[in-house]
Amino acid sequence: MVTTHNLGFPRIGERRELKFALEGFWEGELDEKSLRETGAKLRTSNWQDQEQLTLAPVGDFSLYDQVLDMSATLGNLPDRAGKADENELDRYFRIARGRSPGDSDCCGVHAGEMTKWFDTNYHYIVPEFDASTQFSLDPTRLLEQLAEAKSAGVNSKPVIIGPVTYLWLGKSKDNTDRLSLLDDLLPVYGELLQLLVDNGAEWVQIDEPILVTELGGEWRHALNLAYHNLKANPAKLLLTTYFGQLRENLQLACELPVAGLHLDATNARDEVARISDWLPGHKVLSLGVIDGRNIWKTDLNATLDWLEPVHQKLQERLWLAPSCSLLHVPVDLNSETTMDPEIRSWLAFARQKLEELQLLATALTEGRESIADALKTNADAILSRRNSTRVTAPQVRKAVAAITPELGQRKSDYQKRSAIQASHLKLPRYPTTTIGSFPQTKDIRQTRLRFRKGEIQPEEYEARIREEIRHCIHEQEKLGLDVLVHGEAERNDMVEYFGEQLEGYVFSRFGWVQSYGSRCVKPPILFGDISRPRAMTVEWIRYAQSLTDKPLKGMLTGPVTILNWSFVRDDQPRKDTCLQLALAIREEVLDLERAGVNIIQIDEAALREGLPLRQSDWQSYLDWAIEAFRITANGVKDETQIHTHMCYSEFNDIIEAIARMDADVITIETSRSNMELLDAFKGFQYPNDIGPGVYDIHSPNVPDTDHIVSLMNKAAERIPAERLWINPDCGLKTRSWDEVIPALRGMVAAAQELREA
Ligand code: GLN
Ligand code: ZN
Repeated sequence: MVTTHNLGFPRIGERRELKFALEGFWEGELDEKSLRETGAKLRTSNWQDQEQLTLAPVGDFSLYDQVLDMSATLGNLPDRAGKADENELDRYFRIARGRSPGDSDCCGVHAGEMTKWFDTNYHYIVPEFDASTQFSLDPTRLLEQLAEAKSAGVNSKPVIIGPVTYLWLGKSKDNTDRLSLLDDLLPVYGELLQLLVDNGAEWVQIDEPILVTELGGEWRHALNLAYHNLKANPAKLLLTTYFGQLRENLQLACELPVAGLHLDATNARDEVARISDWLPGHKVLSLGVIDGRNIWKTDLNATLDWLEPVHQKLQERLWLAPSCSLLHVPVDLNSETTMDPEIRSWLAFARQKLEELQLLATALTEGRESIADALKTNADAILSRRNSTRVTAPQVRKAVAAITPELGQRKSDYQKRSAIQASHLKLPRYPTTTIGSFPQTKDIRQTRLRFRKGEIQPEEYEARIREEIRHCIHEQEKLGLDVLVHGEAERNDMVEYFGEQLEGYVFSRFGWVQSYGSRCVKPPILFGDISRPRAMTVEWIRYAQSLTDKPLKGMLTGPVTILNWSFVRDDQPRKDTCLQLALAIREEVLDLERAGVNIIQIDEAALREGLPLRQSDWQSYLDWAIEAFRITANGVKDETQIHTHMCYSEFNDIIEAIARMDADVITIETSRSNMELLDAFKGFQYPNDIGPGVYDIHSPNVPDTDHIVSLMNKAAERIPAERLWINPDCGLKTRSWDEVIPALRGMVAAAQELREA
């Protein structure tokens, strides 16, 4: 039989059991024992789901984050976590979530920084290093789970993050060279591996996904050093890579002295032949043949077509697995009882993916005939998807094929059109605005929920949302803001709202994926050619404009963000899908313009998230992403002012692309960077208007007017004052009106002060 294994299973639970247990625990409604019991139950159930595998992962489960777990295992929680003899869970959550002053922590503890896990939408807690960093092993978590797995009858394969990737993921707080810590780190890994073996493990999965990124010489050297050092260890190491191709690191990955190598064969199919030639004869090659990042069924026959010869060559040295941890997909498709059955027949979530894996292994060992029925069913599903008229819309394809560069071109350049806009809009210097959403009160959420459930009629729903819009406009007028918004009360989520109205999308009910800690997202599923049957936002925004003489800013989500926050089709390049989205949102932009909306904001919060893992691939992504934005935005008249918004704090390396978007105004998150972020815009001589966020909306603190004035003065040192706007960092939907009103009042006062100065 071919060895099968899995790199990790979703830990949040089929019904988000872990989320609710965690939140109950944080609220003090659940004690530690119950939380730990929930964890144990989830692990047991996950192992049951993986019963058929030769090796099941152990240690992939985490109460918050696998990188933070590794920091705890290596004795590298920051000092502010508390003393080593304090409650372990307390220390862990202090770093996971931070703690406000009061309770047991007099001065409060700030959480560890969170950042994206490679190119996924999962976020991990960044390990912290400094010159005094020392490591010491705490194997408790892994040994407990190993023992648990043993008593559950699991053939265990512990999963850990490799030493070099661990250092790479972290940040040095005092410019200490992270790699200088490797010498101290390796003995701890040595100890850990020995202990795992002593406790019954034979194989250990050691993740070094940095092998699919561009590595400097010192990092490649560190990999060599680390694995030569760990070679003497009795554990059989499966060096594990995922999310991309090895490319220039291929030889290095093949030569490191380990017992096996795992390759993401969904991304690096082209490298399989070379690796199977190069890999020394004593090594195992594990191929990730099932896409762990997407929700489509695998084409089993097509996979077997290329896999069979590899199997013939490698025989028992070939292992099979999903491409990466299944953390990135929902648990069980069988929960989706209300989904369109045709589309459901094309999908596979974590449990289904493991079934597919089993089928492939059986077909390789016993021949395809042995699973003829299953292969036929699979082939039917693949064919049904390929031929479905719901997937292909000829008029959409025609429109994409007819795209010309002119479509993304404004009528006039920024200089000319900004003068036209100024004479139309008559805005004061330092115009004030917000990013779109206003507080989503309990009442609004309930109204939406009850409407969804059919408990209130469309007329009543509409009346309530209108009431909310009226209130929102009224408050903004009272505050004296210059450019108003309708407040987004009708939107649950900035992507889902549009996905629900576009042709080509379906939604799952339980398709949750962990984003960080207890936070989950339910990405909509983009399965077919995208079109917009009718206007999506115009009525609400037109209504809002009818209530005020001030200019109103219409609010849309851009094509790149919609793409990056969805599960997207794998049967065409992402670029093509993005262009389809661009054409659909473009129509909405033009409809808004026709409805008399003179300012339109197109949010691209997730533009940066789509950046490929290797910098050498960035340009081609940015080229089509920016083209898509331009197609969406630039069909308007000179009089119409286009805004865009982005909320992250790294622009340096993509500033050229941002400038190419050519939005008349860009609003960004800057308050926490003390306006230093604007250096990137200054250095590039960014030509258009900028609204640098003047206060952090994540915090309930009311910003101080003087502070805002001083921030704006700093901004004006970098960007000419006549091109500056004043706005918060991001949308206000998570705040309460009590917080929003004084904050915006301070902001408007600051603008007045600046104008008079
Ligand atoms: N317009 C959105 C809002 O204000 C933007 C959200 C975001 O940037 N993440 O909520
Ligand atoms: Zn934002």
